[in-house]
Amino acid sequence: MKAIRRFTVRPVLPDPLRPLNDLSRNLRWSWHAGTRDLFRSVDPGRWAAVGCDPVRLLGSVPAERLTELAGDRDFLDRLEAVAGDLHAYLTGDHWYQAQDDRLPAAVAYFSPEFGITAALPQYSGGLGILAGDHLKAASDLGAPLIGVGLLYRHGYFRQSLSRDGWQQEHYPVLDPHELPLDQLTEPDGTPARITLALPGDRSLRARIWLARVGRVPLLLLDSDVEENDLGERGVTDRLYGGGSEHRLLQEMLLGIGGVRAVRTYCRLTGHPEPEVFHTNEGHAGFLGLERIAELGARGLDFDAALEAVRAGTVFTTHTPVPAGIDRFDRDLVARHFGPHAELPDIQVDRILRLGTETYPGGRPDLFNMAVMGLRLAQRANGVSLLHGHVSREMFAGLWPGFDPEEVPITSVTNGVHAPTWVAPEVFRLGARQIGAQRAEEALSVGDSDRWDSVADIPDQDIWDLRRSLRELLVLEVRERLRASWRQRGAGTAELGWIDGVLDPDVLTIGFARRVPSYKRLTLMLRDRDRLTELLLHPERPVQIVVAGKAHPADEGGKRLIQELVRFADDPRVRHRIVFLPDYGMAMAQKLYPGCDIWLNNPLRPLEACGTSGMKAALNGCLNLSVLDGWWDEFFQPDFGWAIPTADGAGTDPDRRDAIEAAALYDLLEQRITPRFYERGDSGLPDRWIEMVRRTLSLLGPKVLAGRMVREYVERLYAPAARAHRAMDPDSARALAEWKARVRGAWPAVSVDHVETSVTTATAELGTTLALRVRVDLGELGPDDVEVQAVTGRVDEEDRITDASAVPLKPVGAPDPEGRWVYEGPLSLDRTGPFGYTVRILPAHRLLASGAEPGLVAVPSEDLVEAAGLLMR
Ligand SMILES: *Cc1c(COP(=O)(O)O)cnc(C)c1O
Repeated sequence: MKAIRRFTVRPVLPDPLRPLNDLSRNLRWSWHAGTRDLFRSVDPGRWAAVGCDPVRLLGSVPAERLTELAGDRDFLDRLEAVAGDLHAYLTGDHWYQAQDDRLPAAVAYFSPEFGITAALPQYSGGLGILAGDHLKAASDLGAPLIGVGLLYRHGYFRQSLSRDGWQQEHYPVLDPHELPLDQLTEPDGTPARITLALPGDRSLRARIWLARVGRVPLLLLDSDVEENDLGERGVTDRLYGGGSEHRLLQEMLLGIGGVRAVRTYCRLTGHPEPEVFHTNEGHAGFLGLERIAELGARGLDFDAALEAVRAGTVFTTHTPVPAGIDRFDRDLVARHFGPHAELPDIQVDRILRLGTETYPGGRPDLFNMAVMGLRLAQRANGVSLLHGHVSREMFAGLWPGFDPEEVPITSVTNGVHAPTWVAPEVFRLGARQIGAQRAEEALSVGDSDRWDSVADIPDQDIWDLRRSLRELLVLEVRERLRASWRQRGAGTAELGWIDGVLDPDVLTIGFARRVPSYKRLTLMLRDRDRLTELLLHPERPVQIVVAGKAHPADEGGKRLIQELVRFADDPRVRHRIVFLPDYGMAMAQKLYPGCDIWLNNPLRPLEACGTSGMKAALNGCLNLSVLDGWWDEFFQPDFGWAIPTADGAGTDPDRRDAIEAAALYDLLEQRITPRFYERGDSGLPDRWIEMVRRTLSLLGPKVLAGRMVREYVERLYAPAARAHRAMDPDSARALAEWKARVRGAWPAVSVDHVETSVTTATAELGTTLALRVRVDLGELGPDDVEVQAVTGRVDEEDRITDASAVPLKPVGAPDPEGRWVYEGPLSLDRTGPFGYTVRILPAHRLLASGAEPGLVAVPSEDLVEAAGLLMR
């Protein structure tokens, strides 16, 4: 029978146990072992059965057990200690409070997905987990973030396999009342609502759920409310499902509705208003439009409001390929804005222009969310050094006339939240070494000297730890594999072989990630015979654990999974290679620590950063990866291996796979397995252990989300807050007017004449040249521009490769034709081919960089010829 309505009956806790309620409703339990231990002891059997979820635990513990605990002195003492610890964590001063700078009073962080814990399944993969780790690390550091996202009724999907290895998707209903969420309510007790206007006189309403992520509130918008029509109720049905109109509505709800939710939250709780808005990928980009509309209501015109909004906005891009960018049909966007839809006071044309691909090859019929993101944010970044570089090249067309290196997109390399990802066993070893308090600090703040103490841990202890982690994984794998085979229709009698799957003494390789084609799930299958030999090697075998979900619409990805599953089903190898369905945080937390090698073989440079290898590293697992994303930046041969790549121009994809797969097998056969199995004098694999030690001590502090969030605060949030404060309405108007004037006058700006004190083609190191430049500034004056000498090494095509710019100074007054003379010294401080040029950029105190307006004047070709501007 199907119920016609469901209720969630909340437990009534006996008075002495009341603090359990607060503990269960703050997600800090998900990274605080002491809190989890306390909940486990409420009812160990049930704790495992409810998937280690305190809210579900309290909802199912029998009243007798609660009464018993209410009289258990020992339990109550522990409860008091854990509750006191949470209180101190929530109210104490942390890193942020110790900074001298006037840091932002609050930062709103928007993301389409958040992976905080398996108990709140609102993520699909890396982007969401990164967002979760960002909030947790911000909480640990005391940074005042407010997270903003959507609550999806089905989350992403749950994965299982058919008998023949084809991915099956399930969409269980998540009842928000059974999740660690509270509904935001008005003072009169009615649920808080935000509303969006839709075309055709419809509206989209949403309630706001609050998740507490330590100190950080996370607001999740949910359209599944009775006041909505059926269609609108489904807007937040699932993550990354549906067609483009569905996605547009989700993104409007996230961006526009998200700002309204933040305003509501601040009004209801007295929380300070954000000074900075950070959008994690382009999906939340409409947040900038809503803030322009807010300022419009206060009398600012569009251009001035745009400047004010840009000043306080940070945009992070995660996509290294144009095809990965979120784009909408222009007409679809046009229909959803304007007089009879959302943001009626902004001209639709102004909105459309923000998302227009104005570069060569851009599509005039599409609205590009990343392009809008860059235009609405004064500060932007990629997520690793390499990805910053790739992003600057990818978006260089938006800054015509500038070399990619000068495109104003920086990078902050991702990190991972150690208290979430370090296995308790690993933490205990660290705590034994330096004390629990210092070990905790090492994980959250990332002082590298705390990590140095790993050097003092004896070999035997490290090796024992690695083995016990591997053994735990082996047991976990067998359990999951058995469940999967039952699900695939096998009877218990057929499954005896599963007790022999994996071996706690065999070198264990992990490979788990989403399954887009660039991640090459099946590269390892390229030469099946060679792989089989590796798996079945008589003395030095390897075993492999694979997991990953393909997007439901990605038939190609599902075929890759099936190929892998079929290989792993083969009775000859099935004890050495397994595919585990339903990769998610719960599995990941067991998988990373138990592996010896974490394998990653994407097509370089398509992995923006990658974070699973970082989580593995924090547990002493060594990385074996293509030099892509974070590994390109942090790899050192004394703690891991780089798979050589064949990504030179013109290599055909099939040949490239063949070359890279062969390199992978070679490394495993010749370097990795010998090192794992060979024993030193002590009877231990001491060279391997040394690599584990270096992974922990050298990589550990670099891959922390604490390091990442500190960088965001120092390099992006603090400057954005300063820019935001400087941008009062008058300054915003003045900046907008200045930009318009400069843009209008720019066609007349030119470099007219260049001369130096030396005209020969060779010069000695240390020589200083006098540079004299005549420029035509049209209607502009020296206050509006900077004239620069740009110097650097030149390549064969006379391009300056490592440019550095020095401003020149105006001398005297303009000549009768209105031209100005600029002068300055030019020192030849490098040997070899060296070149210089000059250029004119707009300059204003409120710009974040000279490239920001995308205007530049350089000498004409004729002038370059005539002046002999290049010297060698
Ligand atoms: C860390 C993590 C990811 C992201 O891993 P990548 O290396 O970035 O692909 C995906 N899913 C889960 C469950 C994770 O924990």
